[in-house]
Amino acid sequence: MIYSVIVDLSTSDTDKYYDYHCDEELSLGVFVKVPFGRITKDGFIIDIKEKSDYETKEILKVYDYEPVIIPEMIRLCHYLKENYLIRYIDSLRLCVPSEYRNGRIDILVKNNIKLTMPYEEAEHLIGIRAKKQIEIIEYLKDKNDGVLESELAKLFTYAQINKLVSKGILEKSEVVHNRQPEVANIESKVINLTDAQKNAIETILNAKKTVLLNGVTGSGKTEIYMNVIENILKNGQNAIMLVPEISLTTQIMALFRNRFGKQIAILHSGLSSGEKYDEWRRIRSGEARIVVGARSAIFAPIKNLGVIIIDEEHDSSYVSENNPRYRTIEIAKFRQKENNSLLVLGSATPSIDSYYLAKNGTYELVRLTSRVNGMDMPEITIKDMREQAKLNPKSVLSQDLVSKIDEVLRRKEQAIIYINRRGYSSFLRCKKCGYIPKCKNCDVSLTYHKEKKQLICHYCGEKYKELTACPVCKNTNLKDGNTGTERVVEELKNLFGNIRILRFDNDTTQRKGSTNKILTEFRQNKADILVGTQMVVKGHDFPNVTLVGVIDADLALYNNNYRCNEVTFQQLTQVSGRAGRDSKKGEVYIQTYNPNHFIFNFVKNYDYDGFYDKEVALREVTDFPPFSLVVKVLVVGKDRNETSSYTLRLYDTIKEMKNNNACITKIKASEAPINRLNDRYRYQVMIWLPVDNYESTLKEIYTHVDKINTGSISAFIDINPINMI
Ligand code: ADP
Ligand code: ZN
Repeated sequence: MIYSVIVDLSTSDTDKYYDYHCDEELSLGVFVKVPFGRITKDGFIIDIKEKSDYETKEILKVYDYEPVIIPEMIRLCHYLKENYLIRYIDSLRLCVPSEYRNGRIDILVKNNIKLTMPYEEAEHLIGIRAKKQIEIIEYLKDKNDGVLESELAKLFTYAQINKLVSKGILEKSEVVHNRQPEVANIESKVINLTDAQKNAIETILNAKKTVLLNGVTGSGKTEIYMNVIENILKNGQNAIMLVPEISLTTQIMALFRNRFGKQIAILHSGLSSGEKYDEWRRIRSGEARIVVGARSAIFAPIKNLGVIIIDEEHDSSYVSENNPRYRTIEIAKFRQKENNSLLVLGSATPSIDSYYLAKNGTYELVRLTSRVNGMDMPEITIKDMREQAKLNPKSVLSQDLVSKIDEVLRRKEQAIIYINRRGYSSFLRCKKCGYIPKCKNCDVSLTYHKEKKQLICHYCGEKYKELTACPVCKNTNLKDGNTGTERVVEELKNLFGNIRILRFDNDTTQRKGSTNKILTEFRQNKADILVGTQMVVKGHDFPNVTLVGVIDADLALYNNNYRCNEVTFQQLTQVSGRAGRDSKKGEVYIQTYNPNHFIFNFVKNYDYDGFYDKEVALREVTDFPPFSLVVKVLVVGKDRNETSSYTLRLYDTIKEMKNNNACITKIKASEAPINRLNDRYRYQVMIWLPVDNYESTLKEIYTHVDKINTGSISAFIDINPINMI
């Protein structure tokens, strides 16, 4: 047989079938080593045929006779190549843990000990006086699979164990040990489903199309997911459940582990290499039947899918902005079709795009309008900070919020303060000459990190020494810019003295396990206040939190992005949903300098539909999704002139397409909002396409863009971009 292989080399030139022969019979998706020019390369078998048009060489090595890519995912690779020009190899790499490809990780083998004979027989052989030995066999009495030697050695000495092995009473053998990710400890509650939950489960299980589950925060969506999955498993099918990256360490994982035990596998970036590899192998072998993970888990080698659930479907982490760029929903829909499976999108604040599809009947809409605890949604107050700014311009927290926090502390309850900026303050400015420190690689100002005594570029990560005086005019009077998490913590400490505060942002969660640690401590009431960035917004279920405060709620509103209203509405609603989730009533304080912006009224009244109507009308007049497909081509290069001239050339080409009647409604070329990043210049071409029948035009655009990718210039396509920088 002839085997077509995609070699593990991410370049466009080599991303094609190379044919090899092999005397052994191999399956599709097997990982092999092949001669490649004058060197050798690893690769994936992606096609099998009778003969080749070329003279073939022999496959040098088969790493693993069991396929690493399942046939469905090979079809997905073709689909992605065809529609988005994503290289085969880039798709294939998403399907396999990198540790596996690099051969840097291996299975972990440990010694296992078990009895070789019935207990009574062993007891007889040992004789009653050898007490320790009797204890050992007693311990192993009903453990048919035996136990790890390392476990046994915690209770007995190796000498004692080995004595029994040499007598032939115990047997030592090597077993593969699966490394398992740790999840938070949480006790399960006994739950009686509400009628709303039962109805939702019923509807989902019988759905003929994608379901949008729109349930307010605290309406018990997780319980619905678990029940749906239980039903699917009973049916002999398997499940994928996706959650935003950050929710993974929270309760949801623990709940799933409690409920489904070994049947679940967890996949996300916080795992160690060994854990990732072992979880992936358990999925491949069919031992794990439910995959819970971040977006990349959609590529898991799980067969016979009965349901795919995407929780918090509006979350931006479902769009990959790194190479290869993909939208998780697109992959999910592909797998839905392949498996004829259910697809459930859940959210308290669905994306405008999804809700639009639910309203026009493309999706089935299931709504849950109240919380399972029967309580009202927490009351939201919008606080106009312009008055405060006059009274006490130095203070970040309003008087009202301060007294609310005080009450919460007295009642021994907890508060969450959300501020979507890390560090101490956004920038420093010289009060005399106006100088603002900027990054040398990027066109952005730096953020002051007081704790680290540094100025940091939040785009490229470059660090600079803190400033004590203006480097231009030597003036020492420097003004802070907008507030960040560090400064909020500082102010809270100044106000309330000896309270316990946890900071939850990118800076405090770098070390493995730190996210889990912070959340667990907060959950166990070891802290009074959790101050954090976006990370505090999502999914958490802390029963004792009764107050949520938001600082600078308008931060994202003027982002020059068509989605900024949507994102702000979602974040404010989600974070409000963290209050009053158990038996105590919750309250929310949202501070803003733009209280008259239309979204605040909708946020305050939990009026998603009102917000949707207004926003969708805006999108319609401005030609943004869901009324158009917006294609952003970002052109990046080291040389300013070269980059801009490539951009203009692309613009001309697309213009010509338009003149030749391609279905393009609008084109714009410009500098990117951040014109220089990581020492690269950035320009963009925005192209508007209609939402139907755009496929051939889009393909043509992809082809033109691909041609720009020369050595010195890179071009990236984002469809309906979530990020406009
Ligand atoms: P959502 O994801 O909709 O915001 P969760 O699934 O986190 O809500 O549920 C909120 C809380 O309600 C959780 O603590 C959960 O255990 C609890 N819960 C869910 N369903 C029920 C029920 N039927 N009865 C009592 N408590 C429930
Ligand atoms: Zn920078």
